[in-house]
Amino acid sequence: MAVTVVGSVALDSLETPFGTRERALGGAATHFSLAASFFTEVHVVGVVGEDFGKDDLAVFSDRRIGTDDLQRIEGARSFHWSGRYEDDMAVAQTLATELNVFAEFDPQLSEAARRASTLFLGNIQPDLQRRVREQSDARLSGLDSMNYWIESARDSLVDAIGRVDVVSLNDAEVRMLIGEPNLARASRALLELGPDVALVKQGPYGAVMYTGDDFFSIPAYPLETVVDPTGAGDSFAGGFFGFLDSLGEESPSRNALRCAAVYGSVLGSFVVEDFGTERVQRLTRREIDGRFTEFGEIMSLEAP
Ligand code: AMP
Repeated sequence: MAVTVVGSVALDSLETPFGTRERALGGAATHFSLAASFFTEVHVVGVVGEDFGKDDLAVFSDRRIGTDDLQRIEGARSFHWSGRYEDDMAVAQTLATELNVFAEFDPQLSEAARRASTLFLGNIQPDLQRRVREQSDARLSGLDSMNYWIESARDSLVDAIGRVDVVSLNDAEVRMLIGEPNLARASRALLELGPDVALVKQGPYGAVMYTGDDFFSIPAYPLETVVDPTGAGDSFAGGFFGFLDSLGEESPSRNALRCAAVYGSVLGSFVVEDFGTERVQRLTRREIDGRFTEFGEIMSLEAP
């Protein structure tokens, strides 16, 4: 069992009410792979520049994430994203996006990355997502995107969504893509584009999951301090797909999908406790399972 993830491996400049970080390791594929690595083998597919240091690479190797498909281009700089969060921490304000090496990114998957049982297409140009999907033998696949692609490449994105099993977007993105303000209707319409599962993230309010015959609502863990929300969505996806992959089921059961969504929320709740990847770097599987149990308690109900 293994997961392949394709997406940004970035250096992020972050500003939150709790402080700042300059060119800290980040990127959608980074956050996803770290989260998924607690459950299964991971291969990260991406590109970095010569400013990507040994320490950054060690974060992957320390969690035994395969980096054979992480291309390094000498004489060029890594993808750089700079973002700021105001007091409510709900929405990132993008200050700068420098594509650098990412502008020419056209991944060719290695044999090991192709053969992985699960594929996650992180937030990249949707035609590129489709091309990666075509190279992969994965039996379970998922995709994330963002408002920029919904606005600039909607048709390509709809096509890419039609080729995956799980689509993971936040609530504003689902409404925008479908053009329907009611989230339940919009999520149903999203499933009609092809996927079996719609994972709809709601930032500090948790997430909801729609399948053909199930609806599941996952609360956000009641954290009293959120230091840096960056990577919450990708860590959620990493926990979700990493856990599902580890089960090795041909077609995940209703309960497996529900547990995966809770593991997603657990991983999302840890990453925001510190800047960038710092919290997940010192995270243990024991802490993950402890919080999973707490989620079960938060969500349980007995009839009076
Ligand atoms: P999220 O999980 O949604 O908070 O994603 C956070 C990560 O997305 C950051 O670490 C950024 O490096 C990365 N990111 C931000 N903008 C883009 C973009 N346009 N394309 C790819 N990755 C991005």
